[in-house]
Amino acid sequence: MAIDAPSSHFFSPWPDRLRHSAIILLAAGLALAVLVAFGQLALVHAAAVLACIAAAALVPWRLHNVAASPEDVRGVNPVESAAVSAVVAGMPDPAVLLDRAGRVIHLNAAAAQLAPALRKNELAQFALRSPEIITALREAIATTESRRATYLDHVPVDRWMELIIAPVPVPTLFGGTDKCMLMTFHDQTPLRRVEEMRADFVANASHELRTPLAALSGFIDTLQGPAKEDATARERFLGIMHTQAKRMARLIDDLLSLSRVELSAQVRPDTLVDIVPIIRQVADGLEPLARERQVTVDIDLPDAPVLIAGDREELLRLFENLIENALKYGASGGKVVVSLISAISGEGVPEVRVMVRDFGPGIAPEHLPRLTERFYRVDVGDSRAQGGTGLGLSLVKHILNRHRGRLLIESVPKNGATFTACFPQAKVLASE
Ligand code: ADP
Repeated sequence: MAIDAPSSHFFSPWPDRLRHSAIILLAAGLALAVLVAFGQLALVHAAAVLACIAAAALVPWRLHNVAASPEDVRGVNPVESAAVSAVVAGMPDPAVLLDRAGRVIHLNAAAAQLAPALRKNELAQFALRSPEIITALREAIATTESRRATYLDHVPVDRWMELIIAPVPVPTLFGGTDKCMLMTFHDQTPLRRVEEMRADFVANASHELRTPLAALSGFIDTLQGPAKEDATARERFLGIMHTQAKRMARLIDDLLSLSRVELSAQVRPDTLVDIVPIIRQVADGLEPLARERQVTVDIDLPDAPVLIAGDREELLRLFENLIENALKYGASGGKVVVSLISAISGEGVPEVRVMVRDFGPGIAPEHLPRLTERFYRVDVGDSRAQGGTGLGLSLVKHILNRHRGRLLIESVPKNGATFTACFPQAKVLASE
């Protein structure tokens, strides 16, 4: 790869310095000429003095002129000063100071860790081989404007960094300024991930809504056309349309609940509620589903109130999702057990744990970490057939986060699953 020579200079200190040297030489030459003219000084002596003055005036310029070589930079250029080095070293993001040709003058520890190929006194172009970065560097060298590029790091995990190359004038020993470039890296990975998640979410939600919508409009066409006079078909199609409309309504309900919980995520509920009657109310409400699926629901709850700081409506949604899932997906086990215990978390915090256990087919271990992702389902067909939206466990997780609790999922394939909602015990209980 060819080394880029600077095609134009941001600041050009040489004419100034040359002019200074020329003025000194001219003044000294004139003074000596006058002395020689008046016979006060021999010509040979005057020439020797002029030579000394010329050397004194030109040597610093000469030194600075060749300062592009790293050794000379080290010797005379204040860019190398401890202060500049400390500033670059102290920057929180990876930062590299380059000279006008793109050669590394300083780099901080974060930059060395991010791009180990970057070395002092070597061209950054050699270390950062992406064509986009090389173009940005070339342009920053050639102009006075900042340039941006993307730096992708794949080890140990994928990271997106925005790289900004900003030309900076740096003062030199001789009162002028030299062009350097400050290259900083800014981690955009979290933003990128959020952006990807948002795009995925919109795509998934649209897809989930479009499916029942397509079914509805298909049946409407059929009812207006070929099945217009067919009373039996009309009854059957209206039944299906009703189910599809319910599915859309449920999806919209879940989306709205999720967005409401997310909006208030930072505000922890502060009302003390007894969760025992809330769980009983949910179990009673799901009685018809349990009967339909031929599942016995065992409720093992204390008689005394169990208080937590909570939002009643959200807790109803949470237990409804967990118990309904157990009835839907674990129906083959014939039994669901809902129990409540007090326990101490790994961090030593007293907790209230509500466990919903079923004895159905269970969940394969590879699915467990993803179950609370929006729209994630082990079997999409099965979930749809059960009227699922794929948002239930995501909602459960968000509600628990807002309550500063957590969700534990344990499952043994072919031997059911246990979903445990853990809540921090209310302070009043702990002190009683
Ligand atoms: P859905 O609306 O599909 O029920 P959820 O977020 O509530 O969405 O659950 C996600 C997926 O987790 C379900 O589609 C199902 O595959 C699986 N799942 C949830 N609960 C259980 C359970 N008790 N037993 C087996 N699989 C379950």
